[in-house]
Amino acid sequence: MKRSAAIAALALLLPLASATAQTCDVGPVAVQILGSGGPAINRFRSSSSYLLRVDNQSKVLIDMGGGAFGRFGQADGKLADLAMVGISHLHPDHVSDLPALLWLSHNARKEPLPIVGPSGNDAAPDFKTFLGRLFDEKTGAFQAMGPVLGAKQGSTGGGVPLDVSVVDVTKAEATTVHDKDGLTVTAFGIPHGPMATLAYRVTTKGVSVVFSSDQTGTNPKFIDFAKGANVLIMHLAIPAGAKNPLHAAPEVVGRVAKEAGVGHLIVSHVGPFPLDPAIAELKTAYSGPLTIGADLQCTVVK
Ligand SMILES: [Zn+2]
Repeated sequence: MKRSAAIAALALLLPLASATAQTCDVGPVAVQILGSGGPAINRFRSSSSYLLRVDNQSKVLIDMGGGAFGRFGQADGKLADLAMVGISHLHPDHVSDLPALLWLSHNARKEPLPIVGPSGNDAAPDFKTFLGRLFDEKTGAFQAMGPVLGAKQGSTGGGVPLDVSVVDVTKAEATTVHDKDGLTVTAFGIPHGPMATLAYRVTTKGVSVVFSSDQTGTNPKFIDFAKGANVLIMHLAIPAGAKNPLHAAPEVVGRVAKEAGVGHLIVSHVGPFPLDPAIAELKTAYSGPLTIGADLQCTVVK
């Protein structure tokens, strides 16, 4: 093969190579992006999902958008290690791979799996109702998965029992949803149009990671919630100069990170638009450490 043809072949292979197994066993606390995209079809970005690793164990999973099931496997995620799963809201790009994750989960884990989601409103059911519509053994879409809601385990599948908590997104203060073995997780309602949505803050070993999820960035109380986080993951969902009733403009993303005084901003949930102008707009408000998120990207927090 001529050298130029060999280089071209290598270039074709590189994107595939980047999607092979890629663990994040670095340091006592690290965060790995399982899905760095939003709802748009994308060759390289799965929809929203994040894994927080503590002592090389996959401890906290935030969201499970389309494609994240495969990424969980590529990241060597272990269901048995999870202390909890947090779901931010019920748009498909944040939750559609949850049935895939849970279907054979009883083979990997016997302990009930704590899972947290938002309260409901006119735009979406509360998280418990949502799970019932999916998994109820008589009326759910996936009747064979009744065991996740307490039905008797079937012979072909079923899923590990879920320990479900619902957080009131209208509550003025953050809610502690997990506090055990030196790992604390709080959840806080944020504005995302009509959609009831939660941000999560995970604190362990003296460091914090905040997962902003989709939001307009217009609730000043979120600044307090994210205050001083070592890592803040914000969603860069709309292009430079755009306005949107669901998502923060790039400048607002930067302003939130600056006002919260975070140590490191990662932008994720990246939409299909020119990134350079969006990042330039973001940087008019924020000049600290910045990473553009990618699937399976690993960031050492401590
Ligand atoms: Zn989204």
